[in-house]
Amino acid sequence: MIDNLKQIFSFLNDSNDARSITATLEEVFPLSAIYIYDSTTDSLRDFSKSWMFIKSKELNEVFNELKDKKYINGKTKSYYALYNNKKVIGMLEFKEHLHEKLFEFLDLSSFCISLKIQNVILSERMQKNIEFHDSMKNIAKIIETQYEINYIVPIIGEMIDKFVSDHLVYIFINNELIWPSACNDQKIFELIKLLNSKSEYILTPDKKIGLFPLISENKLLGCIVTKSTENVLSEKEIEYLEQLSSQAATTINRANVYAEILKHATLDALTGFYNRRQLEERVKQEASSAKRQKRNLCAIMTDIDYFKSVNDTYGHAVGDLVLKTVSKVIRNQLREYDIAGRYGGEEFVILLPFTKIEEAQMVAERLRAAVANKKIDISKYNSENHNIGVTISLGVAQYKAEKDENEFIRNADKALYNAKASGRNKVVTYDRNKHENI
Ligand code: GH3
Ligand code: MG
Ligand code: MG
Repeated sequence: MIDNLKQIFSFLNDSNDARSITATLEEVFPLSAIYIYDSTTDSLRDFSKSWMFIKSKELNEVFNELKDKKYINGKTKSYYALYNNKKVIGMLEFKEHLHEKLFEFLDLSSFCISLKIQNVILSERMQKNIEFHDSMKNIAKIIETQYEINYIVPIIGEMIDKFVSDHLVYIFINNELIWPSACNDQKIFELIKLLNSKSEYILTPDKKIGLFPLISENKLLGCIVTKSTENVLSEKEIEYLEQLSSQAATTINRANVYAEILKHATLDALTGFYNRRQLEERVKQEASSAKRQKRNLCAIMTDIDYFKSVNDTYGHAVGDLVLKTVSKVIRNQLREYDIAGRYGGEEFVILLPFTKIEEAQMVAERLRAAVANKKIDISKYNSENHNIGVTISLGVAQYKAEKDENEFIRNADKALYNAKASGRNKVVTYDRNKHENI
């Protein structure tokens, strides 16, 4: 008996997690489970099966019964109470009727088993604490170094996912699911509608779905959602998730502000094309890599025909709408890696990498036709006219590895001038013999 006790104490000493404690005890007893009462969720959990929640009325009754007696000895199942300061904290379950000797043994060893289990629970909680602080530190680090929202959100998502690993995690920005790629729980979409910029977290009555709003500078940016079919969120987890969402909201807000600044610095606000400065930068880059890699590069320059009269007839707001619409029509005709920039008022430059002059001519012709066929609805500004149309003239030129990388842009401009002079709504290709006064 003493030897057995020594053996079990020494084994327990070496066991530092639920699995090895269970394995040690199974060697000595006909043990079938270890149940521990979890006060944060007010339920029994199976310690021997990684803290699984127990939904069994009978087991709850057994547990309550053990508050008055030390054990229940049944034919096929027996229970023995685990104490902490005279309070029952859990119970050992055995798969058979327990005999006298085993009782004696349990009376001597149960305090040690109970202590060990409590230590493991405590260290698991501490581990969770450490993980939480690591997550907070990581999010803080991302704040300082990352500004790309599409990059930040998955990192935050994965971090929270790891943190509440027994829950599914979703991140919504502006009511749109950003991470992961799908969520088919309609209830979540319903709940999101309830959030506003002053919301606190929302928990469903069964505590299985939690919504944590992402609020920064009094703006509701989105929310983090956790969902489980099995486990409920504990108060500690809720507290952690609240802090994580607040940290995440600051990060996301910063990224939004940065993206806005960046957009203004490189893109034209009306058309969304590159602005003149950025366009010049891209001309330099494209020309130099075309030269280096000996590949084709062409430019198209466009100008809206009689645009002044659009402004004069319908007003500046309609002029702006026309500009916006024409730029959209052009963008839709281009490949992803083609580059469009606003060169001046209603003049655009389009760079076509990997493109021969014959292909560039075809693209230009396609742009011309698409704009000419577009009906622009101006009914918002003008009650008499619903649709108007405009045309564009285009000049096309090829980069020929000239020293001056702007020369082919100037050549496209010369061809454009020729298109205007010869009737407008036209494509003209630069021809050195025709367009230079040699
Ligand atoms: P052409 O066929 O010869 O090109 O005739 P045009 O009237 O289009 O002449 P031009 O290209 O010289 O006219 C440019 C006009 O574009 C002048 C200016 O009022 C207008 N414009 C330039 N930028 C903007 C803008 O941002 N918004 C609006 N509404 N109009 C603009
Ligand atoms: Mg014009
Ligand atoms: Mg012009």
